[in-house]
Amino acid sequence: MSIEKKSPEIISAKPEFRCGYITIAGRPNVGKSTLLNQILGQKVAIISPKPNTTRNRILGVKTLEDAQLIFLDTPGIHQATKELNKYMVEQALRSAREADLIYLMIEANTPWQEEDIFTFRQLAVLELPLILVINKIDLVKKRDLLPLIDYSQKLGPFKEIVPISALKADGIDELINATIPYLPESPALFPEDMVTDQAERFWVSEVIREKLFLLTHQEVPYSTAVLIEDWKETPNLLRIRAIIFVERPSQKGIIIGEKGRMIKKIGTLAREEIEFFLGTKVYLELRVKVSKNWTKDPYALRRMGYR
Ligand code: GDP
Ligand code: MG
Repeated sequence: MSIEKKSPEIISAKPEFRCGYITIAGRPNVGKSTLLNQILGQKVAIISPKPNTTRNRILGVKTLEDAQLIFLDTPGIHQATKELNKYMVEQALRSAREADLIYLMIEANTPWQEEDIFTFRQLAVLELPLILVINKIDLVKKRDLLPLIDYSQKLGPFKEIVPISALKADGIDELINATIPYLPESPALFPEDMVTDQAERFWVSEVIREKLFLLTHQEVPYSTAVLIEDWKETPNLLRIRAIIFVERPSQKGIIIGEKGRMIKKIGTLAREEIEFFLGTKVYLELRVKVSKNWTKDPYALRRMGYR
């Protein structure tokens, strides 16, 4: 009689949390935005993408029990292919390169157009996992889909080929499940209840914190939290009001500095970086508040978007 030995640790072991960046590539109108909205379950707010910034724009964050998916914008691969503008192609590819995984989306009813092949060839050389998403399957018959999947499999080294209908919300869970294994093992990079444009606010608070680390010393930066209190976008100006929380009045003094010099320096450095990456003029107002023991207060932490 043989008794199968099973280690209880292994049986109960949860899979590691995974978190990574995903770029959705594909020519216009294949359904990229529709897919993103389906995944995030709401309309996504985007400030106009700036193709010439070095950092990718974050379009949305989806947090699940065992993974966090961060979706990035690919500025203008399609425009670039049309105009064959080498510089634009390079820019777009550079952002795709920063992802952990790329979705290439094509349409089931008009698959593998010249532009799709061009985009595919550009992406294939990046040596990142590529998932082929065949969208709009609601427009074709099932029996036409199988030959298309077959053909696509021969065309390229796709890790997965997932047929979906972004519009009818068909195949979305399958796509997400197929995606997770290709993301790196990593804790969540963004607060779990955050979606879409909040990513930008979180990033801004991180930029301010980074300047605090750069310019102040010892325990001071570790005792700070930054809360974005107000965020107003107008066509020419982004107004941001942020509060820097500290634990003790002495730390407040250090951050403000002699005649306000330190806070001014922090503000200027942060503003310049925010303007550069977001491509808009920014008015940044910083205030410092003492909040005793905020680092130990879970409610305060939650309010600030930390957990
Ligand atoms: P994008 O340019 O790639 O972002 O494409 P959009 O998401 O804006 O979609 C372009 C058009 O395709 C819109 O009219 C969508 O409603 C439509 N569309 C997107 N996904 C599907 C789908 O699965 N089935 C059908 N029939 N239409 C879709
Ligand atoms: Mg779109």
